[in-house]
Amino acid sequence: MLHVGLTGGIGSGKSTVARRLAQHGAVVIDADALAREVVSPGTSGLEQVRLRFGDDVIGPHGELDRRALASIVFDDEKARADLESITHPLVAARTAELLATTGEQSIVVHDVPLLVENHLGPDYHLVVVVEASPETRVQRLTGLRGMPEADALARMAHQAGDEQRTAAADVVLGNDGSLEQLEAAVDQLWAERLSPYEENLWQGRL
Ligand code: ATP
Repeated sequence: MLHVGLTGGIGSGKSTVARRLAQHGAVVIDADALAREVVSPGTSGLEQVRLRFGDDVIGPHGELDRRALASIVFDDEKARADLESITHPLVAARTAELLATTGEQSIVVHDVPLLVENHLGPDYHLVVVVEASPETRVQRLTGLRGMPEADALARMAHQAGDEQRTAAADVVLGNDGSLEQLEAAVDQLWAERLSPYEENLWQGRL
């Protein structure tokens, strides 16, 4: 199994790259989706969050009130660390479960938004960073996603800068151009670095 860590700032194009790699046959594990799954209604994860942060973070239908939780952890490092100490082990366990059913020859792409911030580069054979200028990202997030500009800027301010990300990257995919250009770059990455699966090439990296 070959593990690729895929990261980039908010709105850089990670999901788009992951989708293209999946079309080539990669197995994609989306850390954000798993982080949502482990605190979905009725889970022990959500119960642990309720015990730590109180009933105010639970919505009317027993679901996590993400906005309420975000407002607690946004500027409180201790609270954020507590939340992560609940969710990280659950996400790790779920990832292990998924990998147990994945073929040995698979190329597994881990979409991990905070890979650089959490110093997770050494966990992967190859770290791929998707990069787009702040202007492009804000434009895509506000235009295509309808996110308020202030939210996009606040989230970007909390993430690593491009320089830090580039330093951790084995491969940088620039995404200031068209979708077609991005897809062509992903196709080239797949052809040259990921396929065919060359086990010898990757030994010793982890
Ligand atoms: P997030 O950090 O929020 O998860 P992301 O890094 O996964 O975002 P995407 O969801 O892939 O980013 O891309 C953000 C938006 O920009 C999407 O609506 C996507 O379709 C669009 N997009 C990505 N790349 C391009 C491109 N080259 N040209 C035009 N639109 C693009």
